[in-house]
Amino acid sequence: MNHDAIIIGGSFAGLAAATYLARGRSTVAVIDAGAPRNRFAAHSHGLIGHDGAAPGDILQQARDQLLAYPTTSVVAGEAVRAEQRGDGFAVTLGSGAELTGKRLILAFGISDILPDVPGLKERWGKTVIHCPYCHGFEFSGRQLGVLAMSPMSSHQAMLIPNWGPTTFFLNGQPEPDEATMAEVTRQNVTIERSPVVALHGDGTDLAAVELADGRRVPIDALYIGAPTRLNSPLAEALGCAIDDGPLGKMVRTDAMKLTTVPNVWAVGDITRAFHNVTSAAADGVMAGTAAHRSLLFPAYA
Ligand SMILES: Cc1cc2nc3c(=O)[nH]c(=O)nc-3n(C[C@H](O)[C@H](O)[C@H](O)COP(=O)(O)OP(=O)(O)OC[C@H]3O[C@@H](n4cnc5c(N)ncnc54)[C@H](O)[C@@H]3O)c2cc1C
Repeated sequence: MNHDAIIIGGSFAGLAAATYLARGRSTVAVIDAGAPRNRFAAHSHGLIGHDGAAPGDILQQARDQLLAYPTTSVVAGEAVRAEQRGDGFAVTLGSGAELTGKRLILAFGISDILPDVPGLKERWGKTVIHCPYCHGFEFSGRQLGVLAMSPMSSHQAMLIPNWGPTTFFLNGQPEPDEATMAEVTRQNVTIERSPVVALHGDGTDLAAVELADGRRVPIDALYIGAPTRLNSPLAEALGCAIDDGPLGKMVRTDAMKLTTVPNVWAVGDITRAFHNVTSAAADGVMAGTAAHRSLLFPAYA
């Protein structure tokens, strides 16, 4: 095995895991396809010490700091196969190159499956947003919308009025249950039942949501809870148990982020229902230290 650990995915979760393995003097290779989930946003919020920084700048700094450790490498590319070999793992990249390692950490993230509404995709991460804790403060007091996509959207409709006057666009989804309806009514949420046909505004700004009945409702930011998919089939291919989460599949892990397959850990958004940079990095720390200790004490894993 030419590495102690291989990490598939070199963003917030993967780089945190790599950093802790490196600090444990382990040899670690990070394979990264270079498409972190929040690349659509100009600013990342909530990570202490980096609040408001550009996601790419945070990751560049993290990569630079990781590569200062002499036992690390970051390989640009996509891992297309991962298999158990002997008492470790072999990972093949799209280029055909192969890396081997004693431990494997999956950190390949998820993608959002955006609804097919004209004008929505180009505003994703700017004025069409997924999480008020990440981007809601910047739209405080403005005209806010929630686009119903699943029963989970009712939770957004109850939460978003904290940041500003809210319209809930049902867009053909079933009516919220009685308790939700009572809560959104208490919070003066406007319910729109006419389907959404397009978003309008200059550039990536949002000015209005157009409805099928011809009206344009003034809206500055639209929240959506889109379904998600795992970025790679490698967890399933390795035999890791996968669970259904509220918005998509999640890799099952224990409290140390170990999957159901020995010596394979999973971290970040692929393991969580609530996603943010801080939690992803915290997962990486947990898995990085657990993998390191398992190298020292093999019975540990
Ligand atoms: C629009 C938007 C804005 C957001 N804003 C914020 C915010 O302000 N604050 C906040 O805390 N959170 C924010 N988030 C959430 C945040 O982006 C995620 O929680 C975080 O990126 C998860 O980190 P991760 O390392 O698990 O996955 P990711 O950051 O998605 O990284 C996964 C990495 O793995 C790579 N990869 C995938 N498949 C492979 C493969 N087969 N081989 C090699 N590499 C692979 C990808 O290219 C990517 O680089 C936002 C999310 C979105 C969608």
